[in-house]
Amino acid sequence: MDILSAIKAYNKRNGVSLQFKALLSDMDGVLYNSMPNHAKAWAETLQAEGIECEAREFYAHEGRTGKGTINIYFKKFKNREATEEEVQRIYSGKAQRFVECGEALPMQGAQSAMQLIKSSGKQVVLVTGSGQKTLLQKLALHYPDIFTPDKMVTAFDVTKGKPHPEPYLMGLKKASVEPYEAIVLENAPLGVEAASAAGIFTIAVNTGPLSEEELYSAGADIVYPDVETFANEIRKIL
Ligand code: CA
Repeated sequence: MDILSAIKAYNKRNGVSLQFKALLSDMDGVLYNSMPNHAKAWAETLQAEGIECEAREFYAHEGRTGKGTINIYFKKFKNREATEEEVQRIYSGKAQRFVECGEALPMQGAQSAMQLIKSSGKQVVLVTGSGQKTLLQKLALHYPDIFTPDKMVTAFDVTKGKPHPEPYLMGLKKASVEPYEAIVLENAPLGVEAASAAGIFTIAVNTGPLSEEELYSAGADIVYPDVETFANEIRKIL
């Protein structure tokens, strides 16, 4: 399927006509090749709490808030939710381990794609479940003048987090656009689910170990193998 047919199908399904005014972009696994480090940091941190888990499991939780992920494992292994103190301690431990994993680099093709979209007069808004300050601060360096603080939704802004549509609804508000005036760029099933629930045309880039099918089942309108392919395809509608 190509992007034009995917848009046609989206329009028909929603009874709208997509007018691209704003890109709402996820961060980890889209702007940064950071998921391997996140997965490793999560597994090591929770293992230290006596929880049995493996790094690859965390791709399925990608997009959740830290608290949301911690509580899934607490309920499963400790039959209770984590206290606020535990959430703070574990999440900051995970953030520290993430830093120790080394620098996560921008995803191949992402910087030029964002520049192209912005210079075509579209708004670009960050919508991430991440509260990883070290990476959020890097955005100004790697994506200068693109993700300005007033155009960012992060873990510090939302209460529900993906897969709830809240983060993407906030992203629409920041861009002052309707769902049919935006396009979401995501890589994780829970993020795709959130964007799709917000009624937004959702492009998934499959940069992790999951199958394309998992992204389509979550509600992706179209799936590309990587960000470079997305960049080439988005030119068709700019
Ligand atoms: Ca992601």
